Amino acid sequence: MEKTDLLSLFPEELEQFAVSHGEKAFRGRQLAQGLANGARCFRDITTLPARFVETLEQTAEIRGMETERKLVSKLDGTVKFLFALQDGEAVESVFMRYRHGNTVCISTQVGCRMGCAFCASTKAGLVRSLEPSEMLLQVRRAEEETGETVSNIVLMGMGEPLDNYDNVLRFLRLVNRKEVLGIGMRHISLSTCGLVERMDRLAKEDLQLTLSVSLHAPTDEKRREIMPIARKYSLRELLAACDRYTAATGRRISYEYALIAGVNDTPEDAHALGKLLRGRLAHLNLIPVNPIREKAFRRSEQQAIQTFAQITEGTYRVSTTVRRRLGGDIDASCGQLRANRETRE
Ligand code: SAH
Repeated sequence: MEKTDLLSLFPEELEQFAVSHGEKAFRGRQLAQGLANGARCFRDITTLPARFVETLEQTAEIRGMETERKLVSKLDGTVKFLFALQDGEAVESVFMRYRHGNTVCISTQVGCRMGCAFCASTKAGLVRSLEPSEMLLQVRRAEEETGETVSNIVLMGMGEPLDNYDNVLRFLRLVNRKEVLGIGMRHISLSTCGLVERMDRLAKEDLQLTLSVSLHAPTDEKRREIMPIARKYSLRELLAACDRYTAATGRRISYEYALIAGVNDTPEDAHALGKLLRGRLAHLNLIPVNPIREKAFRRSEQQAIQTFAQITEGTYRVSTTVRRRLGGDIDASCGQLRANRETRE
C-alpha cells in the first residue's frame, strides 16, 4: 500500500487524516505543527501519543530530501543545491539574495519534456513530475541550509510548471497557508514556455502571482527553431492568452527573452519584439543566454544587449530590464548540475 504523503496535505486534511484513523481532530493539528517544525520522523513529534505514532508509521510518510551538493558563489553569495529525492532522482534549487528579500528558485519536475534548444534541463526528457511535498522541501531545505528565511519563490527551475498543473497548484496554495510557510501569492512567480490552455485555467484560479512567459523570439519562424511548443501555439495565440490572463487577474505579465548571439538579438528582432509587446501590460526581462555544454549557443555581446534594450524601451516604451547574473561561478543556471551528475556517474 502506498503511504500517504503528509507534507503534500493541507492542515485540514491532516485533521481529517487523524479523525479517519480514530483520533481527535486536534491530533491532526499537532501533526501539522510537528511537520511545520521540520520533523523528519513521527517520533520527533513528541506531542503525539504512541498509538497514533504507530498508525502513522504504518500508513503515512514524511518525505525526505538530502542535500547532495551545495555550491556557494564567491561573487554574490548565491547558493546552488542539488537535492536527492527519496527515489534517487535529483533536482536543483537556487537560493538568491535580493534587496527585496531572499528568493528560492525551485524545480517542478525531474527533467522536462518541452525540448527548448538552449535549455540544459530538457536534454534527457522528462523523468517525472514532483509532488507538492518535494517542491515544499526545496524551500525548507534552502532555509535550513542557509539559516535564513525565504520570502519569495520562483518556479523557474527544472521542469515546466504548467505541465505538472495539479501538484503545482496544490504547492502554491500550501506555501500560501500561514501554518505551512505563509508566503503570499504576490511573492511568487511562475514561468511557463506558453501552454495556452493551462494559462487560461490558471487565470481562472484567481491567484495574485506573477506569470512569466518565456518568449525568446519575436516571430513564429524563429520561435519554432528554438522552442518546440511554438509549433503547437503561434505567438498570436500565446499573446491572446496572455491578454486574457491580464484581463482576468489585472496582473502584469513578465516576458522572458534569452538573448542568443546571432539567433534572436539583432535590432530587427528588437523592433519586432517591441511591436508585439507595445501597449500591453508587460515587463520584458532580457536574459543573456547561459551557454550550455552540448549546444553552441553564445551569449550576445554587451553592445547588442544595450542596443536591444534601448529599442524595446526607448522606441516602444516596453518596460525592460537586463537580468543581473547571479552565481556565474557555480553553474547556477538550472539543469546544469543534474546534467553533470549524470555524466559523472
Ligand atoms: N519551463 C518554464 C520554466 C523553467 S526555465 C519556462 O520555460 O518558462 C526558466 C527560464 O529560464 C525560462 O525562461 C527558460 O526559457 C530560461 N532558460 C532556460 N535555459 C536557459 C539558458 N541556457 N540561458 C538563459 N535562460 C534559459
